[in-house]
Amino acid sequence: MRSGEHYKIKHMTRIQFMFLTLLLVAGCMPATGTGHDSLPGRPVNIILMIGDGMGVSHLSVPYYYLDREPVFNRFRSIGLAGTSSATHPVTQSSAAATAFSTGVKTYNAAVGVGPDSLARKNIVEIASARGYQTGVISTSSITDATPAGFYAHVPDRHMQREIALDLIESEIDFFAGGGLKYFIDTTGRDLFREHGVTVNFAKLQKIEPQEASRRYGFLLAMDRMPAMLEGRGDFLEDASGIATDFLSRSDSGFFLMVEGSQIDWAGHGNNADYLISEMIDFENAVKRVLEFAERDGNTLVIVTADHETGGFTLAAAGDYQTGTDYGTIVPTFSTTNHSASLVPVLAFGPGAEHFAGIYENIELFNKMVALITSP
Ligand code: MG
Ligand code: ZN
Repeated sequence: MRSGEHYKIKHMTRIQFMFLTLLLVAGCMPATGTGHDSLPGRPVNIILMIGDGMGVSHLSVPYYYLDREPVFNRFRSIGLAGTSSATHPVTQSSAAATAFSTGVKTYNAAVGVGPDSLARKNIVEIASARGYQTGVISTSSITDATPAGFYAHVPDRHMQREIALDLIESEIDFFAGGGLKYFIDTTGRDLFREHGVTVNFAKLQKIEPQEASRRYGFLLAMDRMPAMLEGRGDFLEDASGIATDFLSRSDSGFFLMVEGSQIDWAGHGNNADYLISEMIDFENAVKRVLEFAERDGNTLVIVTADHETGGFTLAAAGDYQTGTDYGTIVPTFSTTNHSASLVPVLAFGPGAEHFAGIYENIELFNKMVALITSP
């Protein structure tokens, strides 16, 4: 490889340089945070935020429909991710969630299983085995494809009763969303109690230390949560705040997935008002999470999408042949389906630099797991 003497000198220099860097970094570190120990460039906590169906045009919405600077401007590492599944150029949320959670490209309807329908280890299981607390939050049913990808292993996303049972038996410590009907047990057993899960069916509220079991959930709708236009209010950002409060009580790190589910449904419905309200809500949740990460100092926040929905764009009004109105934006859709476009990846915090670039969705899993498991 190299001549021995030359290599030795370079090697020693590098170690001395690293030692000096460590001293400098330690000396300059602000005295904030939770007291967790972390190595430079390595997060204690990871929060993955998924805007379902959120393409680059969706990400642009707050720049035109929000009366303050979008929180996205505070992210410094920006990437793009390819979303195709193992079987199709255009993915479904189930295969995309499985790619994020297991690092395996699979067929479109798969949840937590590979192309052979066999279970693959997911990031929640990997993190839990290392003592992490884990959580999932969704504005759909908590058994819907995106959150399910992080705790369930079923061959088809429509097996929501089985997915609900997988949640109860999983390592998930915190969850919030809808989907109560999938958890109702007709034999009268209290499956939550049997598995040590306290569930609040009434409303979001801070979890007091004395009432908290090791695992805690909010199930606030029989099926999906209401849309923003139906009055969902601050559910997503408040649930995110409650989750970071609850999950950061233990000395171990945590992994949390937060989904803005209904951005996708607005795209399927080609409903611009619905889309804009769901995007603004998601941005508010990102802002709440980023404020936690900035205080904590040891939290990596990743914002991305599973795929784009609607072929959405913020078009100029008018017609190019007969006269464009550059002063008026007309939110426009080209399809009621998902599309194969690359999706944005924004990263903030220790380790964020690994998320710049253009890569496939499974690399998000590889990058997160490398940060969790590196010695
Ligand atoms: Mg979803
Ligand atoms: Zn969809």
